[in-house]
Amino acid sequence: MYLPDFDYYAPDSVAEACQLLSQFGDSAKVLCGGTDLIPKMKHELISPKVMISIKKIPDLKKIEYIPGKGVVIGATSTHNDVVFSEVMQGKYLSVSNAAGTMAANQVRHIGTVGGNIVSAVPSADMAPILIALNANATIVGPDAERTLPLEDVFTGPSRTVLAKNEILTEVVIPDQKMTGSTYFKFALRKAGALAVVGVAAAVQVEDGIMKDVRVALGAVAPTPMRAKKTEEFLKGKKITEELLEEAGKIACTECKPISDFRASEEYRRDLVRIYVKRALKRAIDRGHI
Ligand SMILES: Cc1cc2nc3c(=O)[nH]c(=O)nc-3n(C[C@H](O)[C@H](O)[C@H](O)COP(=O)(O)OP(=O)(O)OC[C@H]3O[C@@H](n4cnc5c(N)ncnc54)[C@H](O)[C@@H]3O)c2cc1C
Repeated sequence: MYLPDFDYYAPDSVAEACQLLSQFGDSAKVLCGGTDLIPKMKHELISPKVMISIKKIPDLKKIEYIPGKGVVIGATSTHNDVVFSEVMQGKYLSVSNAAGTMAANQVRHIGTVGGNIVSAVPSADMAPILIALNANATIVGPDAERTLPLEDVFTGPSRTVLAKNEILTEVVIPDQKMTGSTYFKFALRKAGALAVVGVAAAVQVEDGIMKDVRVALGAVAPTPMRAKKTEEFLKGKKITEELLEEAGKIACTECKPISDFRASEEYRRDLVRIYVKRALKRAIDRGHI
């Protein structure tokens, strides 16, 4: 399995990268860690004539807290950057933990948060927890920059709202009132396996009442999705075992899983029922985000 020939560019700035993408149009692809792109090229699923690596653009690799803005994760930050970031461990341990569920150490070391999002695989592990924490995505093109909720970036399997000449530059987790969050991944092996179901929950609990909640699901719809009916059901209610049980039942009716070689639709729905309850329980008990 050899790689086809391609021209390689490594611009120093986002502006230059966007300009190159505009110049080469359909024949160009953004390259970051390459853990998704290179296997696809080797299997001859895609064959871009031009690869534009964004890995050397300095400002895209960062994880920092900006007061008033939130925690900023630059698009070329690797999963291991997220796992070991002190900022992330201090502010959003659940996000560090989610990054730690990805692949194996070698892939976490080169695979990036931006690549994980833009590849838009329904089972992508970073999406559910970031959506549960209300993250926004910043997308830059040759003429403009736009920011939108991360959940609105995905339009279908391997499809996003990004135009061909746009780059995802960062994901921002805004300051929030949530009191706990977590991500659960069910996969067929403990390491190096894609999620059969991924469930993230973020909760704001006050005096035993669910004041606010966001539940996001992975691998059970064409895109990562919010479980909005489940959230509405939970809001404002006293937290009990029965309430969480019922929330799991609602979530498993609102997801839209398919059957494939990893699991049947029915099995995925049952996993959602169980893991939504578990994720809510852990987010409630954890007492930190
Ligand atoms: C063995 C193995 C195990 C894996 N396990 C998991 C797993 O457990 N969970 C999981 O979620 N994923 C897994 N993956 C998939 C993959 O590693 C991740 O999705 C990774 O985060 C992709 O990042 P990358 O930087 O390597 O992306 P690349 O391969 O460089 O790019 C992926 C796609 O995104 C585009 N792109 C990349 N960055 C940007 C950007 N900033 N702006 C615009 N477009 C961009 C590229 O053009 C390409 O289309 C696995 C992959 C392998 C090979």
